Amino acid sequence: MWPVTDAPIGHGAILVGGDGRIQEIGPSALVPLPEGAESISFPRCLLTPGIINAHTHLELTNLRGKIQDPDFFDWIQHLRREKADGNQELFVEACRVGIREFWSYGVTCVADTGDSGSAAIALSELGGRGIAFQEVFGPHPDQRDSALAALRERVKESVSYASEAVRVGVSPHAPYTVSEMLYCDVAAYARAEGLRIAVHVAESISETKFIVRGEGPFADAWQARGIPQPVTAESPVAFLERAGVLGPDLLAIHCVHVSQQDILRLADSGTCVVVCSNSNARHGHGLPNPLPMIEAGISVGVGTDSVASLPVPDPYAEARALVELGLSKHRVAELLTIVGARATGWDDEIGSLETGKWADLCVFGGFNAPLDSGSVAAALIDADQTGVVATFVAGRMVHGAEGDRRGRSGAVSTG
Ligand SMILES: [Zn+2]
Repeated sequence: MWPVTDAPIGHGAILVGGDGRIQEIGPSALVPLPEGAESISFPRCLLTPGIINAHTHLELTNLRGKIQDPDFFDWIQHLRREKADGNQELFVEACRVGIREFWSYGVTCVADTGDSGSAAIALSELGGRGIAFQEVFGPHPDQRDSALAALRERVKESVSYASEAVRVGVSPHAPYTVSEMLYCDVAAYARAEGLRIAVHVAESISETKFIVRGEGPFADAWQARGIPQPVTAESPVAFLERAGVLGPDLLAIHCVHVSQQDILRLADSGTCVVVCSNSNARHGHGLPNPLPMIEAGISVGVGTDSVASLPVPDPYAEARALVELGLSKHRVAELLTIVGARATGWDDEIGSLETGKWADLCVFGGFNAPLDSGSVAAALIDADQTGVVATFVAGRMVHGAEGDRRGRSGAVSTG
């Protein structure tokens, strides 16, 4: 067992309370099994905190493999057309499929962005955990009031599905789909309501061209639609800074095209980041460079982005991409768990195995390596979907052979 924030424990056990939180953790000989409690044992397995997937688009799960355009601008237009054909029931079903698929990868918490309001519904219905960021679009300054009013309505609907496991945030989509005025308004609204914010930013060269020079395909599209060009800024991150969006409650998605100055902007404001290397590579955006961001003190999570970008939403493939970018396996394992929890605002509740936190757990099979932090981190990073033998959310097995055990206390042990 590897709590991530503590040394690995041989033949470890966790006692889960009836409320789904961790009551005790330690070597199995020292963790008492209360009378009447059930015990599940996973011999020769590695138990870790559940994986935090810090950027997903669950409502797009049914668009897997359907949008193949190599050019990013064409891909976005194609995505918009496909989404326009959907309805709420289809989106909720897509979210259900996506949540169950993530459980099969050991993912126990998602930070999801979408505009249909379906993720909160599906998470609540299935007993999953995550934050559903309600998207808002509005490139024309004249859309400022109507877009904000519509966002407030959608948030109100989603909040009715909120719980200890399901949170709601807002996502003013990206600097090329949201006017600076709307950014200002949404940030003020979110902060007044205590809602976290997620923004796609610094993803493509086209976005940078648009914000820095008012040129490129986004500029052409805005011009064709009669939308005034934004006032230029030094960079997309500087644009968000000027709009008052940066802050410790902001999750900045992608951050591929960031300068050293941008990294300082993000770090000084306490902004969190999520990187999605494989999605960036698929779209030809280049690759993020997370190390300087981490060294600057930024909490960097890992995300798989949508299956419309990459058909296989594999967090371990993302993890290995980060190892190829020069991060140690131990560090990447932290990004997948406790740091990902921090980046999405969940670290008081999940991200490590500690007394009082939710029993969100992932069990990997066939673990025979020595029990040191290097080996357990390597086992996690080198894992794949087939290696995940069980996944628990709040002590309930949501993936694995043992079926549903909702609300019952018991011990989970490995050895
Ligand atoms: Zn995205």
